[in-house]
Amino acid sequence: MQTPWEHRYAQRTQRMKSSAIRELLKLAEQPGIISFGGGMPAPDVFPVEQFKEACIKVLNNNSAGALQYGSTEGYLPLREMIARHTSRYGITVNADNILITSGSQQALDLLGKVFINRGDRILVESPTYLGALQAWNAYGAEYVSVSFDDNGMVPESLEHALRFGPKFIYALPNFQNPTGITMSLERRTRLVELADRYGVPIIEDDPYGQLRYEGETLPAVEVIDSQFRGEQGCYSGNVIYLSTFSKILAPGIRLAWVIAPSEVIRKLVQAKQGADLNTSTFNQMVAYEVGHGGFLDEHAKLIRKVYRERRDVMLDSLSEHMPEGVRWTTPQGGLFLWVTLPEHLNSSEVLQEAVKEKVAFVPGHSFFPNGGGENTMRLNFSFSNPEMINEGIGRLGRVIKKVMQG
Ligand code: PMP
Repeated sequence: MQTPWEHRYAQRTQRMKSSAIRELLKLAEQPGIISFGGGMPAPDVFPVEQFKEACIKVLNNNSAGALQYGSTEGYLPLREMIARHTSRYGITVNADNILITSGSQQALDLLGKVFINRGDRILVESPTYLGALQAWNAYGAEYVSVSFDDNGMVPESLEHALRFGPKFIYALPNFQNPTGITMSLERRTRLVELADRYGVPIIEDDPYGQLRYEGETLPAVEVIDSQFRGEQGCYSGNVIYLSTFSKILAPGIRLAWVIAPSEVIRKLVQAKQGADLNTSTFNQMVAYEVGHGGFLDEHAKLIRKVYRERRDVMLDSLSEHMPEGVRWTTPQGGLFLWVTLPEHLNSSEVLQEAVKEKVAFVPGHSFFPNGGGENTMRLNFSFSNPEMINEGIGRLGRVIKKVMQG
C-alpha cells in the first residue's frame, strides 16, 4: 500500500502553493519562448572571470575555512564589507547589526519564523512581492493591504490599515517588485512617522536600490527612520532592512543580508540555526574576494547601463505595439514594469494565448494578497536582450489585440 502522505502533512502546508512564477520559469525553458516572466538578471552581466579568480584564491589561501562550517551570523569580513558598502548610502551600522542569509528569501522566511503567530496581520502594499506572501503564508499570516499609486503606499490607506494593529509593515520603496514603482521621499517620511505613531516596525526590502537608471537616489526608509530618531552609529531603530547580492553579483550564490537592531539579529540567528546552521562559507568568502576592492560599485555601473537600455527598449516597444487602453509604469530602476489592461480583460487568459505565440509574463493577480488585479501583468526587462524584447513585445501586442477583439 502506498503511504497516504497527504494525511501526514502539517496544517501549515494547506496554504503552501506552488508559485505561479516557478511554474512559469518551467514554461520559459521551452525552446523559442521569450519570457518576461521570471525576475532573472541577465547572464551577460555575471562577473564570471572575477568569480573564477576568487574561487581559486579562496581555495589556495583558506581552504580549511572555506570548506568548513562557519558562524551563523556570517563571515565577519563580508559583514564588515557590507557595513562599509551600506554606509555610503547613509546606513551606518556595524557588523553586529548584520546577518548573512541564503538569499533575501531566507531572510523573509526567518522573519516570519521569528515574528508571525498564526492569524497575525501583516501590512503589505497591494500588489506586493509574491515570495514574501509565500514565506509568511506558512506561518499563518493574514494580510492588511494598503493601496498603492504612482508614488507608493497611499498614506490615508496606510493609516487606516495601521488601525488593524499589524505585527509589522512590509515595504518595497525602490522599484517595487512587481510594479517598478518608487516610493516618493514624502511618502517615505510619512511611513516612518506613521509607523512610529502606531508603534509598528517596518521591514524594508531593497534588492534593487543600486539599480537606478534615472532620477535622484532617495534615502532608504531605514535612513529616514534613524534621522527621525536622531540616531548616530549603533543601530536600534524601527526598521529591519534587507538587501541581496542577487542582482548586483549573481543570484546563484544565494547571498543576502539583514540589517537590524542587534537583539533582533540574535533572534534571527537562533531561527537560522534551526534552518541551515550557516550560509555557505565558501560562497561568502568568494563574494568577499570579488567585492571587497570596490568591484561592487564598478560592476553596478555596467548592470545599470545594460538594464537601462533594456528598459528603454521595452518602453519604446510597448508604445509601438500596445493597443489603445493598455497602460504601463515607467520604472526609474529595477527589473520590472507593470502593465494594466482594460478592466474587462483577464491577464491569465491572455497568458494562455501568449504562450501559444511563445511569449510569457506573470499575471498580476498573484501579487495581490487579498485578490484583485486580474487585468494586470508584470513584465521583466532584465533577462532578454533588446532584440528579444522587441520581438516579444510585438508578439504580446498582437495577442492582446486579438483577445480585445474577442
Ligand atoms: N525580495 C524581493 C522584493 C525580490 O524581488 C526578491 C527576488 N526577486 C527577493 C526578495 C529574493 O531575493 P534573493 O535572491 O536574495 O533570495
